[in-house]
Amino acid sequence: MTTLSNSLAQADIAHNLHPYTDARAFEQNGPLIIERGKGIHVWDSTGKQYIEGLSGLWSVAVGFGEDRLVKVAAEQMAKLPYYHVFSSKSHEPGIRLSEKLVEMAPEGLNHVFYTNSGSEANDTVVKMVWYMNNALGRPQKKKFLARNKAYHGVTMVAASLTGLPGNHRDFDVPLIPVVRLTCPHFYRFGQEGETEAQFCARLLKELEDTIASEGADTIAALIGEPLMGAGGVLPPPEGYWEGVEKICRANDILLVSDEVINGFGRLGTPFGCQKYGFTPDIMSVSKQMSSSYMPIAAVLFSDPVFNAIADNSHKIGTFGHGYTASSHPVATAVALENLKIIEERDLMGNARRLAPRLQDGMRRFADNPLVGEVRGTGLIAAVELVADKATKAMFDPVGKVGARASVIGHEEGLIFRAIGDTLALCPPLICTEADIDEILVRMGRTLDRLAAEIKPA
Ligand code: PMP
Repeated sequence: MTTLSNSLAQADIAHNLHPYTDARAFEQNGPLIIERGKGIHVWDSTGKQYIEGLSGLWSVAVGFGEDRLVKVAAEQMAKLPYYHVFSSKSHEPGIRLSEKLVEMAPEGLNHVFYTNSGSEANDTVVKMVWYMNNALGRPQKKKFLARNKAYHGVTMVAASLTGLPGNHRDFDVPLIPVVRLTCPHFYRFGQEGETEAQFCARLLKELEDTIASEGADTIAALIGEPLMGAGGVLPPPEGYWEGVEKICRANDILLVSDEVINGFGRLGTPFGCQKYGFTPDIMSVSKQMSSSYMPIAAVLFSDPVFNAIADNSHKIGTFGHGYTASSHPVATAVALENLKIIEERDLMGNARRLAPRLQDGMRRFADNPLVGEVRGTGLIAAVELVADKATKAMFDPVGKVGARASVIGHEEGLIFRAIGDTLALCPPLICTEADIDEILVRMGRTLDRLAAEIKPA
């Protein structure tokens, strides 16, 4: 076993460039090879068990080793392992999944386009909106509004929408005109003496001023995650999204909700936009849609967006966009079964019921000398570690303490995600009360050990 994992590790080091990894440090440290999973647990190649406190990458809603998904995938593989949906071809799982998505989605999002990843979904959003505005005779209406710390993916255009420095540096993005707005995170971006309500009002004023100075006729859409995920688990201030929606509507700017993490019950509502009281024109979805058993994502959009695109495709003779694996039969069949499981087992209700247990439990860590802020809602939560609680000063360099926390977490049998020095939890929707309690015990031990090692300033 050890020999195998050593040789596997050597081969990994020799050949694989890992996403979001320091490639030189990886040569020294090697991989953590995960071998199997069941329920909320995964096991590494030495046999050590972990609770997957981030559901993989915020996605394995139904847990690992779900037999129903295995069976559906095998059956679809045997029946029709692949077909495409170009030039009017179609297949049943792709049609049924779209029916289901439209049934679950907020009112008015009646149309679906499939991609393989969240990044491609957001690239597709930009292409669709540009295509639409060209068709409507307003070719100057192309800019996107996006927030600092947003995560919308990493393909060239999605990375342009993303507002994190690490996704831009040395990649020569942004590639498209993106106008940035302040990140709606009060703890970090609220000003001295400002209340949260005043912070929210300032951000909405900034949005209005930005639209006025750029010109509403140059701005196509605003894209945002209802609760920002990979930027550090950042819920917006109260009233923020209602205000954003109103301003977008008044200026004929499309509202795009990136639901890649929020969607399918993570916040206790089917979609994050419902939690925060706004109705988007377009949504991107992925992750919990298939519990990431198969790579699949989708763009859902309204009748007006569809009609403009449909008319233009008629004029041109085609809608010249699509991927070989758009609406892949196995991926769509698995996603459909996954959504049925989420409904039948009321996993969104489970998330809603368990939310106070996770959120209250996490807030008890506010006493830890390293914890500057505890935040989250539904079944997503985070603690932000700081060097000085009073001044909110960050550790220098940012990320070192977070990385150390991950190592201790692993020793304690808990996988979470360190985003800089913010430790994020996003456990599978199948969790029980006892699972949440155990996650909190392990997180508590991790934070205690970390505080004992690192003396705050
Ligand atoms: N949007 C959001 C909100 C995401 O969190 C992510 C991935 N974490 C993406 C888009 C990109 O998805 P993918 O990694 O599948 O390209």
